[in-house]
Amino acid sequence: MNAPLPEVLKQHLIDPEICIRCNTCEESCPVDAITHDSNNYVVDSGKCNFCMACVPPCPTGAIDNWRTVLRLEAYSVEEQFTWDELPAEKALGVNVETPAEAAGPQVQAQVQELPLSEAVAGAQVPPWSASHPYVNLYTHKNPVTATVAGNYRVTELGTDSDTHHIVLDFGNVPFPVLEGQSLGILPPGVDANGRPHHARQYSIASPRDGERPGYNNVSLTVKRVTADYQGRPVRGVASNYLCDLKKGDPVQVIGPFGSTFLMPNHPGSHLVMICTGTGSAPMRAMTERRRRRRGQGEGGKLMLFFGARTQQELPYFGPLMNLPKDFIDINFAFSRIPGQPRRYVQDVMRERAADLALLLRDPNTCFYVCGLKGMEAGVLEVLRDVATQHDLDWPALHQQLKRDGRLHLETY
Ligand SMILES: Cc1cc2nc3c(=O)[nH]c(=O)nc-3n(C[C@H](O)[C@H](O)[C@H](O)COP(=O)(O)OP(=O)(O)OC[C@H]3O[C@@H](n4cnc5c(N)ncnc54)[C@H](O)[C@@H]3O)c2cc1C
Ligand code: SF4
Ligand code: SF4
Repeated sequence: MNAPLPEVLKQHLIDPEICIRCNTCEESCPVDAITHDSNNYVVDSGKCNFCMACVPPCPTGAIDNWRTVLRLEAYSVEEQFTWDELPAEKALGVNVETPAEAAGPQVQAQVQELPLSEAVAGAQVPPWSASHPYVNLYTHKNPVTATVAGNYRVTELGTDSDTHHIVLDFGNVPFPVLEGQSLGILPPGVDANGRPHHARQYSIASPRDGERPGYNNVSLTVKRVTADYQGRPVRGVASNYLCDLKKGDPVQVIGPFGSTFLMPNHPGSHLVMICTGTGSAPMRAMTERRRRRRGQGEGGKLMLFFGARTQQELPYFGPLMNLPKDFIDINFAFSRIPGQPRRYVQDVMRERAADLALLLRDPNTCFYVCGLKGMEAGVLEVLRDVATQHDLDWPALHQQLKRDGRLHLETY
């Protein structure tokens, strides 16, 4: 009689050398299988059910790593926290067809019950007419050196919000990007554990043909972090490093990242852009792309909802005001103007419900949300209410928007 096969597992692991600690996977996992410490993001093999909800949103691909192990010898969370690199694959002499099959029938059933499209709120695919992006050309092991070509403040002096427009030039080194992509900055120095700082992610604020058209450069919109999420004073490592850079300084860059938060390119495609603060960076890139190509057939409506505490704290307020009204429909929401009621992007969106409903109905419209983490649920709620008020079946439409790559969320 044949001896039973050893119980094997295709263990889901995160590559610490590529991971940029952006937290996206932890937020995407419906069963809280992903966790992190100050060193690494890791997957708990006892919780992961191989639903794959975390894989498409990961901007670097670090999440998509698998090792065949004996189930009893699966790498523990504690062990993964200590890794600087992934262990090599061990030769076990057994075949495992797919992670779900390896996990057994119970898990396969669970995976079928939880389709990826329902596990996450935004699309995991780009719009059909998006251009093909390059990703991960440069990693922690082989970063590229860019040179600061400019660095200036885009929020008014005297306000709490110190946000900078920073231009990085790549010279003759290829760094091809599309609007909506991001890159990673490696700040110099080491963290409290003596390890090199991990990369921080920043959205690219310039269009694909460069901040300056025809030049190999990109721009970023960086807010200096001086307080943590609880309001306690801190000095954010990368944001302060970036905001203090001088023209000519070298900067270590990795990326580009992102293959879904991309703009459509087909004629008559409309963009609805909803953002707060530095979430305006990808919207600036897309708007500028459309502005440069105005009259070349891409056409389509541009509608922007942009929230900030005050006009003085809104990045790029002046340049935005100079854009022609027949090119872009701009809606500001200010939440801290003395003597005035607080208005958030969701409030302004509700005021424009009739126009939003028309755009929701139109298969040529793509929706982009970027900025503070807290805005995501509120914006989805408004879209749901607008749809329902205008006799649209929101659950079905929401699934459709995701399936067609027309609803993109990036909050941090
Ligand atoms: C997909 C993506 C795109 C991003 N795009 C941009 C962008 O275009 N522009 C931009 O400025 N940032 C952007 N960020 C945020 C950026 O990656 C950094 O997290 C941010 O600059 C803080 O990094 P730091 O090194 O200065 O702070 P850290 O040294 O990493 O953190 C210091 C402390 O501040 C807290 N903290 C971190 N970030 C914030 C914050 N934003 N507000 C309040 N407290 C904070 C941390 O929890 C920590 O306690 C993006 C993040 C993601 C995931
Ligand atoms: S880079 Fe990928 S694996 Fe790392 S934290 Fe972000 S989503 Fe997770
Ligand atoms: S595959 Fe699913 S369960 Fe496993 S870590 Fe990713 S999101 Fe969580």
